[in-house]
Amino acid sequence: MIGELQQLEKDALAELATATLEEQLLAVRAKYLGRKGLLTGLLRNIAGLTGEEKALFGKRCNEVKEYLTSKIEDALKLQLGRKKEDILLKGKIDVTLPGRFVPCGRIHPVIQVRREICAIFASFGFSVVEGPEVELDYYNFEALNIPKDHPARDMQDTFYIEENVVLRTHTSPVQIRIMEKVQPPVRILSPGRVYRPDSDISHTPMFHQMEGLLVDRGVSFADLKGILTSFLKKVFGDKTTLRFRPSFFPFTEPSAEVDIRCVMCSGRGCRVCGQSGWLEILGSGMVDPAVFQNVGYDPEEYTGFAFGLGLERIAMLKYGISDIRLFFENDIRFLRQF
Ligand SMILES: [Zn+2]
Repeated sequence: MIGELQQLEKDALAELATATLEEQLLAVRAKYLGRKGLLTGLLRNIAGLTGEEKALFGKRCNEVKEYLTSKIEDALKLQLGRKKEDILLKGKIDVTLPGRFVPCGRIHPVIQVRREICAIFASFGFSVVEGPEVELDYYNFEALNIPKDHPARDMQDTFYIEENVVLRTHTSPVQIRIMEKVQPPVRILSPGRVYRPDSDISHTPMFHQMEGLLVDRGVSFADLKGILTSFLKKVFGDKTTLRFRPSFFPFTEPSAEVDIRCVMCSGRGCRVCGQSGWLEILGSGMVDPAVFQNVGYDPEEYTGFAFGLGLERIAMLKYGISDIRLFFENDIRFLRQF
């Protein structure tokens, strides 16, 4: 029986030598030392031995058991260490690697232009106000001296929500809303989205406008010229040349369109300015007395001027962009350039 025990020990050690995984080591322990293991099996046959033999065999069995137990424990510890090392190696962080590049957002060119213009007019003492984009026909047209069936309505194709509710076609209704609430002096700038059913290289159904209004005693066309000249020189540079052209708007009288010398060709004539050497920049004029009457201002006491411009148009000229639709396609390659 001692021989069988020696063989058992030898087999167990041999199996242990080839076992590397935790499951394999645990299997060896169960096979030889478990309650139903081979060593227990040998001890069951002890009945046929004499007292002295029993004691000797029992002692040898215990020695083998202890020896194998400690060998298996050692192997398990070693295996656990290797496992930890593996985890550390796999999850290792190289702190010397460069950080991941996180692309930074940019401010949309239209918003950049809007902010720049607001800042310029803030320096002239104007405050920024906003109004609703879904607007009553009254504010969008009638109060601005454009009654129903007035031919001027044809100048602005309109999205109607209901018979008397429209998507505003310009930011001018904001000036009516403000003048209804406050008495002069008024110095406001109202930027915002406006809507007209147009779509081509220079029109989109939604675009951005900015409306300016100054009302006080003794405001003249010279003030209009002075403010708009300073403004355009700040946006397009000190050397900018301006031209005021007589025009018509229902809510201003007299009215003038303001052109600047073409920024692309310096007036020699090019595709952008249609060979004219000039670029239309904004519409302006002295507020029509009829508009003042609609908001309860006395036209004998107060005069004022208003102007409106398209922000996309300014951005296109400032940054040399040829198609207005690029602003709204949200192509990241386009937007990253600003
Ligand atoms: Zn030109």
